[in-house]
Amino acid sequence: MVGVIRRARDISDADFLNALAIARGLRPNYEGASRWDVASVLGGYEDLVIARSRDPLLADKTIVPGVDNQAVLAKARKLIRAGKITGCGCGCAGFFTAAGELPAYHAWPA
Ligand SMILES: [Zn+2]
Repeated sequence: MVGVIRRARDISDADFLNALAIARGLRPNYEGASRWDVASVLGGYEDLVIARSRDPLLADKTIVPGVDNQAVLAKARKLIRAGKITGCGCGCAGFFTAAGELPAYHAWPA
C-alpha cells in the first residue's frame, strides 16, 4: 500500500512493479494483471485480487478507496512506453506483465 493515489506521479516505478508482481502472484491463472488488480494491491486490498482469482465472474472494474484508476492507467502507459512492462494501455483490463515475463496463456507457442 502506498497511500492516496490521485495522479500517475504518486506511483513510483518500483511501487507499480512491486504491486504488479504481487497481483500476478495472487492471480497466477489470469493473463497478466488487470489494472484493477494493480490498483487493489496499491491500495492495500490484496483480498480483492484473491477474490477475483477464485471467482472469474466477479466484476473486475473495482473502485479501490484512495486509488484513482485513471492514475494507475496513466502510470501503466508510461511504463509500457518505457519498456518496463508489457500490456495494453487502451483502457481495457491491461493484462500487464513485467517486461520479459510471458503472459500466463501465452507461455507456449500457439
Ligand atoms: Zn486494451
